[in-house]
Amino acid sequence: MSEVTFKIDVPTDDDGFLTLQCPFCSERFKLTVQDFEREDIIDLFCPYCGLKDEPSSFITDEIIEQAHILALNYAKSQINKSIKGLEQSSRGNKNISFKAGKPLEMEGDKVLFEKEQLELITLKCCELETKAKSIVKEIGVYCPCCGVK
Ligand SMILES: [Zn+2]
Ligand SMILES: [Zn+2]
Repeated sequence: MSEVTFKIDVPTDDDGFLTLQCPFCSERFKLTVQDFEREDIIDLFCPYCGLKDEPSSFITDEIIEQAHILALNYAKSQINKSIKGLEQSSRGNKNISFKAGKPLEMEGDKVLFEKEQLELITLKCCELETKAKSIVKEIGVYCPCCGVK
């Protein structure tokens, strides 16, 4: 089977920020799409706990769920197609009678929307803007790019 890729449109807020979720502490913060896709960022640092991981690990639960739905629907549509094909190819054959039942129902897409209300923080070390809970202004924020607090 050939490889299938799914494209998920990740929503951004009005300022072009996308929500990320730390794989360690599950806290959420935002980065601009441009910063998130920067090639010089190999690992992202969580602004809250300061731990780092590759950027793809910071994808939110909703996006992962949406990816599962897309993959599941794709598998179901493949099954529906092959059952339909079986039905068609068995037509006119006196020995085999094959009637397809009800096609598998597709899962409803999750509606993704941007709802996090976070505060804009500018990190001078990397000239990077992030959005995080206002509490990090008191406890100190780790730069998502270089990890300096
Ligand atoms: Zn964290
Ligand atoms: Zn920095």
